[in-house]
Amino acid sequence: MTENITKGETHGCIVCGKLYQLYVVYDPDGKFIDSKIMSAGGVKIKAENHPLVACETHSGEQIERAVERVFGHHIDEDEEE
Ligand SMILES: [Zn+2]
Repeated sequence: MTENITKGETHGCIVCGKLYQLYVVYDPDGKFIDSKIMSAGGVKIKAENHPLVACETHSGEQIERAVERVFGHHIDEDEEE
């Protein structure tokens, strides 16, 4: 039996840093599974291992560039929390 853990977290928009409330789901080992944006105006960005959010007003290209800037081309697990 495994039970996922849901936490309320605050994350900044990847593009402009505006803060959004998220519910983030982790598995019992603490691995990120999924997130849900609770604040209006935010959209979830599909990214492995990280809860990411951006304002819905940003273009897909803006968001992609921001993700690359923050994580490099590949999003992986080497980031220390
Ligand atoms: Zn933003």
